[in-house]
Amino acid sequence: MLNTILKLKSPLIKKLEKIAGEGNVLSDYDDLYMYSTDSTNITNPNEIAQAVVFPENVHQVSEIMQYAYKKTIPVIARAAGTNLCGACLPKKGGIILNFAKMNKIIEINKDNLLCKVEPGVVIEDLQKAVEAYDLFYPPDPSNLKVSMIGGSIGLGSGGPHTFKYGSTKDFIIDLEVVLSDGTIMHTGCDCSKNVTGYNLTQLFVGSEGTLGIITQATIRLIPKPEAKRVMLAYFDTLEDTSKTVNDIISHLITPSVIDLMDKNTLQTIESFYPSGLLTDKTAALLIEIDGFKSSLNEQYEKVILHIYKRRKRKRKKKKSGYQGAHPLALPQSWLRMLLRKMLSFQELIL
Ligand SMILES: Cc1cc2nc3c(=O)[nH]c(=O)nc-3n(C[C@H](O)[C@H](O)[C@H](O)COP(=O)(O)OP(=O)(O)OC[C@H]3O[C@@H](n4cnc5c(N)ncnc54)[C@H](O)[C@@H]3O)c2cc1C
Repeated sequence: MLNTILKLKSPLIKKLEKIAGEGNVLSDYDDLYMYSTDSTNITNPNEIAQAVVFPENVHQVSEIMQYAYKKTIPVIARAAGTNLCGACLPKKGGIILNFAKMNKIIEINKDNLLCKVEPGVVIEDLQKAVEAYDLFYPPDPSNLKVSMIGGSIGLGSGGPHTFKYGSTKDFIIDLEVVLSDGTIMHTGCDCSKNVTGYNLTQLFVGSEGTLGIITQATIRLIPKPEAKRVMLAYFDTLEDTSKTVNDIISHLITPSVIDLMDKNTLQTIESFYPSGLLTDKTAALLIEIDGFKSSLNEQYEKVILHIYKRRKRKRKKKKSGYQGAHPLALPQSWLRMLLRKMLSFQELIL
């Protein structure tokens, strides 16, 4: 604080400014305080970084790491800072490397179904960019509008698409990383059939920045599914809901999304973002199917069949005295209103 008031620059700040440029280093207390927290919202005034640096290339990262190594200064990599586990907190102070300025999509290669990106690329931006080439990058943590490739590799993120397509770890085939002493190395290669040697890439995915700093990622892409269809099915019991998931999967249908929302989730979403969800229902399944256009109807019919089969089973049990679930019935006018509200759902299975 005193340093800030007197505008005195420590040797650390001077060195970092020399490496990364004056405009790329923050050292005011307010800035340091802001960058010393993440989405856990825990900031300890005694655990504040000494500097925040916005490197612009791998060589700057390497020089910073060499310096920090010699001086035994901790370095914390930071992407969008949205993790919920304190992964970016500078517990022992040190330098925060923020990758907001290393945010270029270097290459999208349709011939080899891959792309190369810097760690500061926002996931949704990458998804949109590759979709323009009819390619698909499925990992979809629900904060993909802000979270960055570097952070999602650091935490091995996955979202609703994980069930069918896998998570971040299934798509990273090579990383350019800077080790703690400044050494620049690659963990894999551009070839999707890279079968020999240690699988260093996987070691780095999910390592929370503890093994090295990622400065570039080579990502495997897949063809974008030709079409998709989204359904929302309500259930009266959690048991019915989860058993329907089993019914669908065990009949070898693989939805691209199959997410269970319990009553609490339905109510929380509805109060945060009113969209016409039926908050009196015990649970709902959000199902997305995708693939070739010609395959959608068949997949859709099979999914519907299993939803209704399970409900029919329950109805029979109820007739014979069982007090369980029953199929939901709503007036047509209400249904129409809901459908209007829930524009994003193509099918509402009541
Ligand atoms: C609203 C919300 C929804 C979420 N939804 C999901 C979800 O659906 N699925 C899921 O799996 N997760 C989810 N998360 C957690 C998610 O994994 C992370 O929030 C996100 O992927 C991290 O991205 P980030 O850019 O914010 O990374 P940060 O939080 O900045 O960093 C995450 C980790 O990566 C490391 N790191 C960052 N950049 C680098 C780099 N260049 N080199 C080495 N290490 C680096 C950091 O040190 C840290 O350990 C959610 C979080 C929030 C707040």
